[in-house]
Amino acid sequence: MSGLQPVRGTHDLLPEDSRRHRFVEETAFSIAKRYGYGEIVTPIFEFTEVFSRTLGETSDVVTKEMYTFADRSGDSITLRPEGTAGVARAFISGGLTQSLPLKVMYRGPMFRHERPQKGRLRQFHQVGCELLGVEGPQADIEVISMAWRILQGLGLGDKVQLEINSLGDAESRAAYRSALIAYLEPMRMTLSEESQARLDKNPLRVLDSKDEEDKRVVAQAPVMSDCMTPAAKEFFDQVTSGLTALGIAFVINPKLVRGLDYYCHTAFEFTTTALGAQGTVLAGGRYDGLIGQMGGPATPGIGWAAGVERLAMLIEDLPALDRPVSLIPMGDSVPAVVLADRLRAAGFTVDLGFSGNMKKRMARANKANARFAVILGEDELARNAVSLRDLDAGTQEEIPLAEVERRLGRE
Ligand code: ATP
Ligand code: MG
Repeated sequence: MSGLQPVRGTHDLLPEDSRRHRFVEETAFSIAKRYGYGEIVTPIFEFTEVFSRTLGETSDVVTKEMYTFADRSGDSITLRPEGTAGVARAFISGGLTQSLPLKVMYRGPMFRHERPQKGRLRQFHQVGCELLGVEGPQADIEVISMAWRILQGLGLGDKVQLEINSLGDAESRAAYRSALIAYLEPMRMTLSEESQARLDKNPLRVLDSKDEEDKRVVAQAPVMSDCMTPAAKEFFDQVTSGLTALGIAFVINPKLVRGLDYYCHTAFEFTTTALGAQGTVLAGGRYDGLIGQMGGPATPGIGWAAGVERLAMLIEDLPALDRPVSLIPMGDSVPAVVLADRLRAAGFTVDLGFSGNMKKRMARANKANARFAVILGEDELARNAVSLRDLDAGTQEEIPLAEVERRLGRE
């Protein structure tokens, strides 16, 4: 521990950073509202088994990334590493099982003990959605198209690429699993230690390996589409034709398997080449088995989560802030405080510097991108007047104090 340093992999969001994060979240939420999504807020910690039982024993998250601790009652608690398990738990424990389909959005911090680097933090933020209770491919099409609309709304339409794959149904997965084991087993010794362990527990996860040698082995591996049942194929065809009908471009990536174990059928990611190694900005898929596996009634589900930090880094133009009015008191500051209060009540954004000479205060007004400065000089105040300076035009005139709102454009 080192005193006043932030914990490695965490950071403070200063106002400019927060503004980017808010823009990402608000854009996502306002677009999702048009699709009928409401916000769900679940706790940032849950009993550990909410995650360990659902995310899969071989997932990176469960094997090495969770922040788990015993609380003062001796319960094993985990800071949430992702949002879906908590939403599924809320769905079961909150008696929402009768209100299907359920469409919810969430946002907030997630915690994973990873090696920090650009775009990879230990406390990061996600915004995500879950759609529960819809079995058919129209749900997959809708959540992907909503993601696409949100990315476009953020101005990132040209920077991201949709990759999609099908993980098939249970039968397809069983067949694929056997095919993959048959292919990988003879090469077991050339695989990384981690992939050897995955080969025993969950061979599909070998496809997700980031090890270079593993990648070479995997390049020749059989692909899921060779093993898909006609029903699973049909499902995937419907998803891809829906996307085509909506004009959403995609590439099929047969190696795309999601890191968490509960996915089936559609898996997808929006990726970018603009962020180096951490190129996935939004990822999701279908998880029909999850709710049942957690002890709830069998309920299909699909959702995605986007990394807010990664999206925030990609955004070039934020919407402009309201241009403030700068008040510059030359003597007694009380009249400025009173005028500031009056203007704020009328809806203006007012910047009131608290110290410094005229020059400093004008510099502050320019830095704040103020449109007007109102200078409150003692002589003018004695005449119930102020000076209004148009900072764009560089002109200045004396006006009655009572007329400030009107001259600033609002009565
Ligand atoms: P990766 O392969 O990058 O580790 P993942 O499969 O673990 O990603 P998901 O669990 O799908 O990621 O999370 C969805 C999104 O959340 C990711 O696409 C990414 O944008 C973001 N994300 C995940 N982990 C982190 C992290 N440690 N720091 C910042 N953003 C993250
Ligand atoms: Mg990860």
